[in-house]
Amino acid sequence: MIGHVALVGGGPGDPELLTLKAARLLAQADVVMYDALVSPEVIALASPLAEFIDVGKRPGQGVAQDLTNVLLIQLARAGKRVVRLKGGDPFVFGRGGEEALALAEAGIACEVVPGITSAIAAPAAAGIPLTHRGLSASFTVVTGHRQHGEAPVNWAALAQAGGTVVVLMGVAERAAIAVALMSGGMPADTPVAAIGRATTEHQVVGRCRIDQLAELPVESPATLVIGAVAALNVGELEVVAAYAVD
Ligand code: SAH
Repeated sequence: MIGHVALVGGGPGDPELLTLKAARLLAQADVVMYDALVSPEVIALASPLAEFIDVGKRPGQGVAQDLTNVLLIQLARAGKRVVRLKGGDPFVFGRGGEEALALAEAGIACEVVPGITSAIAAPAAAGIPLTHRGLSASFTVVTGHRQHGEAPVNWAALAQAGGTVVVLMGVAERAAIAVALMSGGMPADTPVAAIGRATTEHQVVGRCRIDQLAELPVESPATLVIGAVAALNVGELEVVAAYAVD
């Protein structure tokens, strides 16, 4: 008997931001394979009888992607209902596409359950609308941490586009990202917000200008929001005082 694999988005942290489908699949799962950034409260929604496998990729450790794929295939072939639980959305920098392809090649059906990505949840938690009339008509979600072999990010094009830039995995490279955007024509006084551990009790929000980003104290995991909207905090009905937004 062939089991079932669901690639499930676990959302940004707050378990109430999980989809109903994700909660149901977790409750029914025989095996839950989860990543480092999945919130413990979300994992706790799984059946206590399930088997839990931590395949988190932390710097310098973690389970290799190939091994994760092999494990998923083996468990499905053993007839298990597997939930492959990822932080945020499984298809936003979660390598969910690679796992779905590996399963398809092995002839195993896989269901994809989208989750609320931190690219959207983190700005929302800081009161930052990604698009806002008169300020930003677009947003681009980009990785700040380029893996070997991946296409380079065209920072100059993003600087020219004029919309909001949302950077995931960008904390370590933030100085270089700021330089690349400013070299591409982004004004030095462009607002930036860094939201760490968004939607959890450890959430921290830092704000600065792009030319100050290198010095902004921020720890990973955090989402960087760059552009005029980063000066807003609509929850507080305020424009953060440091910025002049027309
Ligand atoms: N699939 C995930 C992203 C994986 S890449 C998603 O859709 O959210 C991991 C990056 O996501 C981190 O480096 C960080 O930039 C961001 N991230 C994940 N969880 C976060 C959180 N709770 N708060 C802020 N950023 C977060």
